[in-house]
Amino acid sequence: MLVVEGIEKTFGDNKVLKGIDLTVNQGDVVALIGPSGTGKTTLLRSINFLEQADQGKVTIDGLTVDCQTASEKDIIQLRRKTAMVFQSYNLFRNKTILENVMEGLVTVQNKSKKEAEAIAKAQIEAVGLGDKFDNYPMQLSGGQQQRIGIARAMALEPQVMLLDEPTSSLDPERSAEVLRVLQEVAKTGMTMVIATHEMNFAKYVSNHVVFMENGHIVEQGSPEQIFNHPKEERTQRFLQDLE
Ligand code: ATP
Repeated sequence: MLVVEGIEKTFGDNKVLKGIDLTVNQGDVVALIGPSGTGKTTLLRSINFLEQADQGKVTIDGLTVDCQTASEKDIIQLRRKTAMVFQSYNLFRNKTILENVMEGLVTVQNKSKKEAEAIAKAQIEAVGLGDKFDNYPMQLSGGQQQRIGIARAMALEPQVMLLDEPTSSLDPERSAEVLRVLQEVAKTGMTMVIATHEMNFAKYVSNHVVFMENGHIVEQGSPEQIFNHPKEERTQRFLQDLE
């Protein structure tokens, strides 16, 4: 379980997160939606301390870290409970696909090369790219690279997977291919929080939708509630503008 309490973050004089409280239960797939610049990415990055929030607390799987007093050790421990999937894939260009997925298993989780290789191969196969072990990222399409980004995150067996706009660099066809993979990941019971502009994802894969605007959570609920019966006028306006 992930609990975010009172997260605030300011860049210069721009207050980007204005007190975010969010509870994500085991196995939840949460879609963070909202206008550009609203703080979705900053919230995800604050959860794993890629960005250190000014105020608030993050709890994952019983470990609570206060943003103001977090030690390096706390941050490392908390980060190990998460895995991130980035918009731009962030694969090592000079490593093969297999080496990319093995990397964290060996360097962060201290697994033997043999064990890491077996786990990595199984995850790469699970995203349908079992014929690409020895290829380099540049030899793969964007959609395939993102599937490797997802395999790399899955291999770490995180408590929570954080995905930052995983399909926004992709054309609709590639995007659909990644969404299908994420649908499969969701079926495994993986807890996920996904910042997305992809409403199909929010509608058909997530079980909880959080609408953010201007550093606040405006409204949250099931996809049915948010898309069919939004209560807040700002949510209604955002959804209408998408049509
Ligand atoms: P999008 O949907 O376009 O990705 P978002 O909702 O994810 O937007 P963020 O990327 O979290 O929004 O950005 C929120 C605000 O914080 C923006 O005004 C952005 O310019 C600012 N911001 C984000 N990161 C930094 C940073 N490292 N330094 C300064 N400002 C930043």
